[in-house]
Amino acid sequence: MTEPVIEIRNLHKAYGALEVLKGVDITAPQGHVISLIGSSGSGKSTLLRCANLLEDSQQGDVLFCGEPVTWKGRGLARHPSDHAQMIRIRTNLSMVFQQFNLWAHMTILQNVMEAPVTVLKRDRTEVEASARKYLEKVGIGDKCDVYPAMLSGGQQQRAAIARALCMEPKALLFDEPTSALDPELEQEVVKVIKDLADEGRTMLVVTHDMRMAREISDHVVFLHQGLVEEQGAPEQIFVNPKSERLRGFLSATV
Ligand code: ADP
Ligand code: MG
Repeated sequence: MTEPVIEIRNLHKAYGALEVLKGVDITAPQGHVISLIGSSGSGKSTLLRCANLLEDSQQGDVLFCGEPVTWKGRGLARHPSDHAQMIRIRTNLSMVFQQFNLWAHMTILQNVMEAPVTVLKRDRTEVEASARKYLEKVGIGDKCDVYPAMLSGGQQQRAAIARALCMEPKALLFDEPTSALDPELEQEVVKVIKDLADEGRTMLVVTHDMRMAREISDHVVFLHQGLVEEQGAPEQIFVNPKSERLRGFLSATV
């Protein structure tokens, strides 16, 4: 079997006295979609942030394609080699946020091109061609020259997905990509995420959208108060949940 793209082992993360992750294990094999579900405050965003080194952790390991990337208690990017590693990890585990986080002063095309050109130092002409291709793919190929504020939330989130894709990452991390959107705009983003799942991309998706999670996931992880309470195939999680807490959570979300 090939090395998992992401492997999280016994991860612990606290903010001061607040223990947010209390020993979490998650594996994302190549080509699999893993959905992370759980109540607000259960540690889902923290987990994603630890996976791509936006956060440090206290104990446990994060492995990227078998390479250990956790910097226990050392703080992030203290050393130049740490910095290079951090860039490599963030490039390869591209993240899409709930609030899109597009740069307001840049056009959509510039947003998508920025990191490949300035961080990865890739050839501008090639990056532009690839940026246009990804914007086309997410259905906003005609919005290259406008600024984010001129787009709907759904279009902005699709631009953010194109931006993540343009890094040519090994995996995509989504943090509640549809929860800031009006219901009618949500579906256009869900469709893009489904297409990416069908392409066999490796993805770790935090979502409140149980229907999407059920449709796209190979594996679903239910996080409760910083621990994996139950995990399994979507049919197990959504049709035959074992844990009382998971049942409670599902009945409250539908
Ligand atoms: P979720 O994404 O599942 O809603 P989070 O990972 O955002 O949960 O948060 C888990 C817990 O950690 C919450 O209690 C939250 O208030 C706390 N938390 C998150 N980020 C920070 C931070 N930077 N500093 C202190 N506490 C934080
Ligand atoms: Mg969150």
